Amino acid sequence: MTRYLISTRAVEDTCPCGTSILVGHDEGRFVTADSKPVDQAGELAALLDGCRTFALVTGELVYRSPGRIRIGLVGAGLFVEHRCTTYRQPSLLERIMT
Ligand SMILES: [Zn+2]
Repeated sequence: MTRYLISTRAVEDTCPCGTSILVGHDEGRFVTADSKPVDQAGELAALLDGCRTFALVTGELVYRSPGRIRIGLVGAGLFVEHRCTTYRQPSLLERIMT
């Protein structure tokens, strides 16, 4: 069952809005994050704004759940999910059908 919850190395890309982003899969979920790392204050601001945050661990974006934040999982940096204002990410169904 876990073979569907893949995690892949994050790769740099450019969102159609022009922002440099990191793209990958985290435990089966397609994720995009702004490529500029943030410090803990930046992460706190993002969390208060309703954004998810990720740690870059062995090249993969790993969701910083409350438990992972509590144990201090940081990896090679903290990244905030990309919240695009000009481009809507395709839904899972749209990605499967194309
Ligand atoms: Zn964008």
